[in-house]
Formats: sequence, structure tokens, C-alpha cells
Amino acid sequence: MLRNIRYNALVLKVKAVGQSHREAWFLSAESGILHATVFGGPRSHLKGAVAPFHQGNLLLYYNPVKDYAKVTEFDVCTWRPGLREDYQRLMAAFALTETILSSYGSGGTWHEALNIAEATLDAYTEASEQLYRPLAVHFLWHWISLLGLNPSLEHCDRCGALLSAHALTFFVHGSLVCESCTHDGLALGAGARRWLHSIGQIPACSIARYSASPASISQAKNFVTVLLRESLGKRIQTWEII
Ligand SMILES: [Zn+2]
Repeated sequence: MLRNIRYNALVLKVKAVGQSHREAWFLSAESGILHATVFGGPRSHLKGAVAPFHQGNLLLYYNPVKDYAKVTEFDVCTWRPGLREDYQRLMAAFALTETILSSYGSGGTWHEALNIAEATLDAYTEASEQLYRPLAVHFLWHWISLLGLNPSLEHCDRCGALLSAHALTFFVHGSLVCESCTHDGLALGAGARRWLHSIGQIPACSIARYSASPASISQAKNFVTVLLRESLGKRIQTWEII
């Protein structure tokens, strides 16, 4: 077994253990979620480096006898201080890391998962307030698609009919259903559906160029947050209030 392994990793969460040690969770491109101990007193250089949303080159040492991993080096390439300049940005960033941890780092497509996470955090770092909600929808829609849990935006899940560009649809028990099949459930109008389709094709940094009415963005946000809640079996409250 290799005892020292390097990763390209994003810090998701850090928790204090006792006086001077901490536990950290990372998303890595190579192996998904990693959990390791960060040893060191207040003057350890790792203390400042291993903090949420920092990303860089991580070196872990594995002790197979004691069955633990410890952080021996973390060279930060991206610090993202802009996230801490605004409370809502910070809340969105924590909701993103909680979503990743709750879905076990996406369960296998880690390289892509890290790409989505870093692009979203980078976009939030500089985003103006009116982009906070569109960016949240963009992240959740891409994340749900990565998990393979996104319903088709083109066909009714119940009767299979093609959904026209102007069709009103309803989200019922994980399915997107046409107006002929139901009038119950969470409404997703044509504008919201077209916008979701568009933002599903673009990176987070381009979100400002894809506008929609506030009502459509709000419908799309309700749709993706309910979809995420049903997929994870867990509510991540920040996404509902952003
Ligand atoms: Zn139908």
C-alpha cells in the first residue's frame, strides 16, 4: 500500500478535535471524498491552509496499522477570499459543500464533480448579488445531472409526449409531467424550463449572459431544491432561502 498520496483537492469542511487537532474533509479529483486529521498547534502552517473552499495540492500520509490518514502538506493554489466578504456568498458556499458531502462527492465522477464545485465557488467569489440565486440553480441543476437524477425537460414522464417550448409542466414525485396528465404538483413554466435547458449547457462563469424573468428563476429554483431534497432524502435549508 502506498503511504503517501498526492491529490488535487478542495477543502469541504473542517472540525476542531480537542485543543489543537482538526479533522478535515476534502473533495479530490482522484478519489472523491477524503477524510484526514490535521495535526499541529496554533503556529502550524497547515492551520491557515486547510480551511473551507481552499483548493490545492494535498499530500496525505496513510497509517495502515492505526487506520487513519493525516495531512502532511497542503499547497493552496486558490484561496477564494471573496467568499468571506459577503454573508450570502459564504452561506451559498457552505450549502454547496454540504450538498457534496451529502451526496458522497457524486459517487464516482469525481473529476467532473470537482470541476463543477470549483467553477461555482469561483463564480460566487466575484458575483453580484442578483446572480446569487441563478448561480445556486446552475450548481444544483448541474449537480443533479451529474448524479443522473435530472428528469427530462423535453418529454412528459407519464405519457411520453414531446413538451412544446410553451408547455406548462408539473413536478410530481420525481417526474416532470405535462398539463394533459396532471394539474397537481410544483409548476414549472415554459420560461423556467427553457432557462434550465440553456444553463445546463454553460459553465457557471457565463451565467450573467443567460437571463430569465425573476418568476422563471424562482420556479426553477423551487424545482431544483425539491428535486435535490427528494434525491438526498435531506433538506439543505440555505438553497431554499437564497
Ligand atoms: Zn403527459
